[in-house]
Amino acid sequence: MIRIGQGYDVHRLVEGRELWLCGEKIEFELGLLGHSDADVAIHALCDAMLGALALGDIGKHFPDSDPAYKGIDSKKLLREVWLLIDEKGYRLGNADITICAERPKLRPHIDTMRQRLAEVINTPVDNISVKATTTERLGFTGRMEGISAYAVVLLLRK
Ligand code: MG
Repeated sequence: MIRIGQGYDVHRLVEGRELWLCGEKIEFELGLLGHSDADVAIHALCDAMLGALALGDIGKHFPDSDPAYKGIDSKKLLREVWLLIDEKGYRLGNADITICAERPKLRPHIDTMRQRLAEVINTPVDNISVKATTTERLGFTGRMEGISAYAVVLLLRK
Protein backbone atom coordinates (compact mmCIF):
# COMPACT_ATOMS: atom_id res chain seq x y z
CA MET A 1 0.00 0.00 0.00
CA ILE A 2 1.39 3.40 -0.94
CA ARG A 3 0.02 6.83 -0.10
CA ILE A 4 0.97 10.19 -1.59
CA GLY A 5 0.67 13.62 0.05
CA GLN A 6 1.45 17.18 -0.86
CA GLY A 7 1.96 20.29 1.25
CA TYR A 8 2.33 24.01 0.66
CA ASP A 9 3.17 26.86 3.01
CA VAL A 10 4.07 30.55 2.96
CA HIS A 11 5.56 32.82 5.60
CA ARG A 12 6.23 36.53 5.46
CA LEU A 13 9.84 37.78 5.41
CA VAL A 14 10.48 40.49 7.99
CA GLU A 15 13.30 42.24 9.82
CA GLY A 16 14.23 41.14 13.31
CA ARG A 17 13.52 37.42 12.91
CA GLU A 18 15.82 34.45 12.38
CA LEU A 19 15.60 32.54 9.12
CA TRP A 20 15.06 28.79 9.62
CA LEU A 21 14.65 26.48 6.62
CA CYS A 22 14.57 22.67 6.82
CA GLY A 23 15.73 22.85 10.41
CA GLU A 24 18.83 24.90 9.58
CA LYS A 25 19.45 28.45 10.72
CA ILE A 26 20.50 30.51 7.70
CA GLU A 27 22.39 33.76 8.16
CA PHE A 28 20.37 36.48 6.44
CA GLU A 29 19.21 40.03 7.17
CA LEU A 30 15.53 38.97 7.15
CA GLY A 31 13.68 36.10 8.77
CA LEU A 32 10.29 34.45 8.53
CA LEU A 33 7.41 35.64 10.69
CA GLY A 34 5.24 33.09 12.47
CA HIS A 35 4.00 31.69 15.75
CA SER A 36 6.65 28.95 15.66
CA ASP A 37 10.14 29.40 14.23
CA ALA A 38 8.24 29.74 10.90
CA ASP A 39 10.25 27.06 9.10
CA VAL A 40 8.14 27.13 5.95
CA ALA A 41 9.83 24.08 4.41
CA ILE A 42 9.26 21.85 7.43
CA HIS A 43 5.66 23.03 7.60
CA ALA A 44 5.07 22.05 3.97
CA LEU A 45 6.70 18.67 4.67
CA CYS A 46 4.51 18.08 7.75
CA ASP A 47 1.40 18.93 5.74
CA ALA A 48 2.45 16.52 2.98
CA MET A 49 2.92 13.70 5.51
CA LEU A 50 -0.39 14.41 7.23
CA GLY A 51 -2.10 14.73 3.86
CA ALA A 52 -0.82 11.35 2.72
CA LEU A 53 -2.79 9.67 5.50
CA ALA A 54 -5.70 12.16 5.43
CA LEU A 55 -4.89 13.25 8.98
CA GLY A 56 -5.71 16.92 8.50
CA ASP A 57 -3.08 19.65 8.53
CA ILE A 58 -0.42 21.19 10.72
CA GLY A 59 -2.83 23.87 11.95
CA LYS A 60 -5.17 21.18 13.27
CA HIS A 61 -2.41 19.33 15.11
CA PHE A 62 -0.47 22.36 16.36
CA PRO A 63 -2.86 25.35 16.55
CA ASP A 64 -1.13 28.74 16.45
CA SER A 65 -3.47 29.89 19.21
CA ASP A 66 -1.71 27.44 21.56
CA PRO A 67 1.08 29.13 23.56
CA ALA A 68 2.84 25.74 23.76
CA TYR A 69 3.93 26.20 20.14
CA LYS A 70 5.12 29.80 20.44
CA GLY A 71 8.63 30.04 19.03
CA ILE A 72 8.86 26.23 18.84
CA ASP A 73 11.57 24.57 16.79
CA SER A 74 9.67 23.12 13.82
CA LYS A 75 11.90 20.03 13.93
CA LYS A 76 9.88 19.08 17.03
CA LEU A 77 6.65 19.39 15.06
CA LEU A 78 8.10 17.26 12.28
CA ARG A 79 9.19 14.67 14.82
CA GLU A 80 5.66 14.53 16.24
CA VAL A 81 4.12 14.18 12.79
CA TRP A 82 6.63 11.47 12.00
CA LEU A 83 5.76 9.54 15.17
CA LEU A 84 2.10 9.72 14.18
CA ILE A 85 2.85 8.33 10.72
CA ASP A 86 4.94 5.57 12.29
CA GLU A 87 2.14 4.76 14.72
CA LYS A 88 -0.29 4.44 11.79
CA GLY A 89 1.98 1.78 10.31
CA TYR A 90 3.70 3.73 7.55
CA ARG A 91 7.27 4.65 6.71
CA LEU A 92 8.70 7.21 4.32
CA GLY A 93 9.33 6.17 0.73
CA ASN A 94 10.73 9.57 -0.22
CA ALA A 95 10.11 13.27 0.17
CA ASP A 96 10.77 16.06 -2.31
CA ILE A 97 10.73 19.69 -1.14
CA THR A 98 10.96 22.86 -3.22
CA ILE A 99 11.69 26.19 -1.54
CA CYS A 100 10.90 29.38 -3.49
CA ALA A 101 13.07 32.27 -2.35
CA GLU A 102 14.64 35.13 -4.27
CA ARG A 103 17.40 35.37 -1.66
CA PRO A 104 19.42 34.16 0.15
CA LYS A 105 21.18 31.66 -2.08
CA LEU A 106 20.25 28.28 -0.64
CA ARG A 107 22.46 25.95 -2.64
CA PRO A 108 25.30 25.95 -0.07
CA HIS A 109 22.81 24.77 2.58
CA ILE A 110 20.98 22.05 0.65
CA ASP A 111 23.01 19.06 1.79
CA THR A 112 22.96 20.04 5.46
CA MET A 113 19.20 20.62 5.19
CA ARG A 114 18.70 17.12 3.77
CA GLN A 115 20.89 15.65 6.49
CA ARG A 116 19.00 17.49 9.21
CA LEU A 117 15.58 16.34 8.00
CA ALA A 118 16.80 12.77 7.55
CA GLU A 119 18.01 12.75 11.17
CA VAL A 120 14.69 14.04 12.50
CA ILE A 121 12.62 11.40 10.76
CA ASN A 122 15.20 8.66 10.95
CA THR A 123 15.53 7.90 7.24
CA PRO A 124 18.48 7.60 4.84
CA VAL A 125 19.40 10.98 3.39
CA ASP A 126 18.81 9.60 -0.12
CA ASN A 127 15.10 9.60 0.68
CA ILE A 128 15.07 13.38 1.14
CA SER A 129 15.34 15.84 -1.71
CA VAL A 130 15.51 19.59 -1.10
CA LYS A 131 15.48 21.96 -4.05
CA ALA A 132 15.51 25.74 -4.19
CA THR A 133 14.36 28.10 -6.87
CA THR A 134 13.82 31.80 -7.32
CA THR A 135 10.65 32.98 -9.02
CA GLU A 136 12.58 35.26 -11.37
CA ARG A 137 11.73 38.29 -9.21
CA LEU A 138 8.03 37.73 -9.92
CA GLY A 139 5.26 37.64 -7.33
CA PHE A 140 5.55 37.90 -3.55
CA THR A 141 8.56 35.61 -3.35
CA GLY A 142 10.25 37.55 -6.13
CA ARG A 143 9.66 40.80 -4.26
CA MET A 144 11.06 39.15 -1.12
CA GLU A 145 7.84 39.68 0.80
CA GLY A 146 7.86 36.03 1.75
CA ILE A 147 9.18 32.53 1.14
CA SER A 148 7.03 29.62 0.01
CA ALA A 149 7.64 25.89 0.03
CA TYR A 150 6.10 22.85 -1.61
CA ALA A 151 6.52 19.24 -0.53
CA VAL A 152 5.47 15.88 -1.89
CA VAL A 153 5.88 12.64 0.03
CA LEU A 154 5.31 9.00 -0.63
CA LEU A 155 4.53 6.79 2.36
CA LEU A 156 4.83 3.01 2.29
CA ARG A 157 2.96 0.57 4.49
CA LYS A 158 5.42 -1.10 6.88
MG1 MG B 1 3.57 27.60 8.43
